[in-house]
Amino acid sequence: MKSETYKNFINGEFVRSQGNATIEVLNPATHELVGVVPDSTESDVRDAVAAAKSAQDSWEKLPAIARAQHLRKISAKIRENVDRLALTITREQGKVLSLAQLEVAFTADYIDYMAEWARRIEGEIVTSDRPSESIFLFRKPIGVTAGILPWNFPFFLVARKMAPALVTGNTIVIKSSEETPINAFEFAELVAQTDLPRGVFNVVSGRGATAGSALSSSPDVGLVSFTGSVGAGKRIMEAASKNLTRVNLELGGKAPAIVLADANLELAAKAVYDSRVLNTGQLCNCAERIYVERSAVPEFSERVAAYMKNTTYGDPLAEKGVSMGPLVNEAGLRKVSSLVESAIAAGAHVLTGGKKADRAKGFHFEPTVLTGCTSDMDIMRDEIFGPVLPIQAVDSLDEAIALANDSEYGLTSSIFTRNLNAALQASRELKFGETYVNREHFEAIQGFHAGRRKSGIGGADGKHGLYEYMETHIVYMQG
Ligand code: NAD
Repeated sequence: MKSETYKNFINGEFVRSQGNATIEVLNPATHELVGVVPDSTESDVRDAVAAAKSAQDSWEKLPAIARAQHLRKISAKIRENVDRLALTITREQGKVLSLAQLEVAFTADYIDYMAEWARRIEGEIVTSDRPSESIFLFRKPIGVTAGILPWNFPFFLVARKMAPALVTGNTIVIKSSEETPINAFEFAELVAQTDLPRGVFNVVSGRGATAGSALSSSPDVGLVSFTGSVGAGKRIMEAASKNLTRVNLELGGKAPAIVLADANLELAAKAVYDSRVLNTGQLCNCAERIYVERSAVPEFSERVAAYMKNTTYGDPLAEKGVSMGPLVNEAGLRKVSSLVESAIAAGAHVLTGGKKADRAKGFHFEPTVLTGCTSDMDIMRDEIFGPVLPIQAVDSLDEAIALANDSEYGLTSSIFTRNLNAALQASRELKFGETYVNREHFEAIQGFHAGRRKSGIGGADGKHGLYEYMETHIVYMQG
């Protein structure tokens, strides 16, 4: 397949970067060149922000329902191009094609969902202490927003930022991940085929330390909505603090799954497995550490190991029917390998997998189940982001909840049990933004995906995610 050179999308046009530096995008399954994108400069970012700023006022003045119509034109274009877009995502990110197709279709649904809010954005009327006064609380757009993206669901994340931003009257500059920038430019190509006013939606590619930092420290950006690692989140918050710019941070996770002995162990094994191999385990919300009531450890571990053993992996485009692609890059593979090696050295037992796959190409790690893990092991504390399930035995629900909460992350969590009281106790006591009961980890468009502790500030999706893109204006009207 041929590789192409891409340009930034600024003010409704594809424009050359003002610098000469570029980023080569490689296919993680074959190491072949997929395309070349700009390593954007600070002045490229300034141009994009300036375009978003000059477009914002008239965009805000459009009725929300008209803004929603623009969003629906974009989602319709996406639906017409599912297969082509999915192919790009698979080539640059490595997920299996069926998941990439799902990601694209889900993206279109997400945009439509946010468009539906156009007639539902509400303010408040508050009772006044004065006889002839009315107090109105308006919800208004923030202005220019920035979306800084990771690589794991790169196409969907463009929409997760732009759809709530645009329907509420903001404009946006997206900075894609340096690993997966091409699909964001293909998103922009579809936007360019609609009559969306110039400057409302802009995309730049580039590195975090330059383009990302220029966006976060821009005095003209009112909100930086970021999804990615804790380290980058901290640097973004620091840069944003220069102008007291708002931040919305969707960061890492170390999701615990608790499996009690009374659970339907087959359902638990399948659900934990599903949330672990999806996207090769590279999901912020997927089950990362499993606490199983001691008497159920043998049966649960065998069931989950059987699923893992049957997982085929390889190059999703060349090898038909593989259920898992490679990790996104060599650094990811090194991290997973080192966490597994140190767990084994500390006494964890390998039920299946346990090492880097023996293949000439592709960043593949064997689907792995480890038992005998303990909470002092790094594998139970650090984000793995790979197809590895570490299992720790526990003696009670209280112990499982205490271990689950003892983490610097607080994004998602789950419990498998048939005991309603146990499920209710877990819902009360787990200190996480999300808890799934008897199901796999995966959030819904209408929910609210938000992390506690170092998993982030604010959240996305649903009504509460929409309101992250608005600020209040209260008017005291006497007369
Ligand atoms: P990353 O933090 O390395 O990069 C994400 C983005 O941040 C990239 O676009 C990068 O260029 C940019 N960036 C890096 N340094 C920056 C800086 N100083 N200033 C501005 N921008 C900067 O993350 P990643 O490896 O792409 O993604 C994986 C991480 O994302 C994992 O930790 C995962 O848990 C997290 N994630 C979280 C969610 C969520 O919803 N909470 C969803 C997906 C991924």
